[in-house]
Amino acid sequence: MNYTFAPSAPVSVPVVNQNTEFPVHRIYCVGRNYEEHAKEMGGTGREAPFFFMKPADALLYAAPGTTAQMPYPTLTANLHHEIELVVAIGTGGRHIAAADAHKHIFGYAVGLDMTRRDLQNDMKKQGRPWSIAKGFDHSAPIGPITPAGQAPAIEQASITLSVNGSSRQSSTIEHLIWSIAETIEQLSNAWELKAGDLIFTGTPAGVGAVVAGDVMHGEVAGLSGIRVAVVAA
Ligand code: MN
Repeated sequence: MNYTFAPSAPVSVPVVNQNTEFPVHRIYCVGRNYEEHAKEMGGTGREAPFFFMKPADALLYAAPGTTAQMPYPTLTANLHHEIELVVAIGTGGRHIAAADAHKHIFGYAVGLDMTRRDLQNDMKKQGRPWSIAKGFDHSAPIGPITPAGQAPAIEQASITLSVNGSSRQSSTIEHLIWSIAETIEQLSNAWELKAGDLIFTGTPAGVGAVVAGDVMHGEVAGLSGIRVAVVAA
């Protein structure tokens, strides 16, 4: 192939205990998927699921045992953390029934849906897209992917985030309004899911601001946790 210029390198995420990398296709995100967070954002906690996307190269890999460095993004004075369970799709499909969804899951990871909250609020008021608030560079820190067979209790797992050692978010995956399987069903009615897709499944209550110098520590029980420092750009 004669490309006009060299294509961008593929984006991938390491797999726990395997010498392989999971090649990333798309990143889908679910909005307001925990009741208490939906309420803190002004909803009732009973709305139908809705989706937005981040570009695959917004991922920031946080390797186990290290502290990843996330540059504080431009254009915001209110950068928020959202700890999330990430589902990695291994087998694609359209119109996947919730009852069959588990067959399409490769594994799980811990992720952060970092958000320019001030810009998101501006865009909401004006009825404009959220891309600038959600899909910016380095907006999706992620840990390594644990194969589903090694995370059998994920549906009941605790999900937590601390900042500088203080607890900010604490819930369990059981509190998802739309379960992992229901989310896959709904997403696959809107898009053809492909191997390599990642789904950020939503954040529990307790979102808040971080500033340069803060260190975030995110965990989902049974998965590899992540540590991310926000650094001055
Ligand atoms: Mn989110």
